[in-house]
Amino acid sequence: MNQAAPNPAQAARKTVVSLRDVGKVFSSGTLALQHLDLDIYQGEILSLLGPSGCGKSTALRIIAGLGDASSGRIVWPSGGEDHSGDVGFVFQEPTLMPWASVFDNVWLPSRLKGISRAAARDSVMQALDSVGLHAFAEAYPRELSGGMRMRVSIARAMVTRPKLLLMDEPFAALDEITRQKLNDDLMRIQHELGWTVVFVTHSVFESVYISDRIVVMAARPGRAFAELRVDATRPRSPEFRTSAAYVDHCRQASATLTAAIGRAAETIDGH
Ligand code: ADP
Repeated sequence: MNQAAPNPAQAARKTVVSLRDVGKVFSSGTLALQHLDLDIYQGEILSLLGPSGCGKSTALRIIAGLGDASSGRIVWPSGGEDHSGDVGFVFQEPTLMPWASVFDNVWLPSRLKGISRAAARDSVMQALDSVGLHAFAEAYPRELSGGMRMRVSIARAMVTRPKLLLMDEPFAALDEITRQKLNDDLMRIQHELGWTVVFVTHSVFESVYISDRIVVMAARPGRAFAELRVDATRPRSPEFRTSAAYVDHCRQASATLTAAIGRAAETIDGH
């Protein structure tokens, strides 16, 4: 892992979206983000890692167009104004409609675009196939485990084939084994389909395991504190979790996070 070093591979890669000097002040007066610069490159998994309240969700919502920045710019090199169709969003809770089947839940984004059930059938089944739920299309959310419900939520986010998948602590409420399985599945699907993913987490271990890059954020005000790179090859397998390289990366990410939290504490103390 290298700290904030320019990556020659990235220089040649296309940027999906960039944040330039983004700030966010809520009406309550909370300064949630200040001077945030972020480039998201095509085909990468980028984690935003930081303590609670450092603005990770706020940054993700601004990229998704679910909230406005108070200052700064969001730059989509593809141009245009409305980028809602470019983005899929996965929340910490699966937020499924309990009265609708798995198929109908995954169909929802296409339905909102006016695509009929029949016309959406192939793309819905393909998305369910990718997350291993092909056989559960007619099941209802109550019949599924927490991990399966999260898979449905991922299928729903990917069904319209967005350029960018934004995931806000998607696996935080799951047990450790399920979480590790979903980390592996996410990496497999991302690798197969060439997705670009921004993943919010407060877990050092999860961020190192899945990411190409980690932006460590600090709070009060929310900002990027440091950038780390995880150079391990893909596809990564569970063996990576027990490798010396993984332990080294975790140690460095953990030390950086501790420094980021320490710096925020100094800000509170007025130093
Ligand atoms: P994180 O995702 O890193 O936990 P958030 O982006 O949720 O952080 O929040 C950043 C800061 O903004 C926190 O201090 C939080 O309390 C505040 N905040 C978030 N959403 C709102 C809101 N809708 N209104 C007022 N303050 C908010």
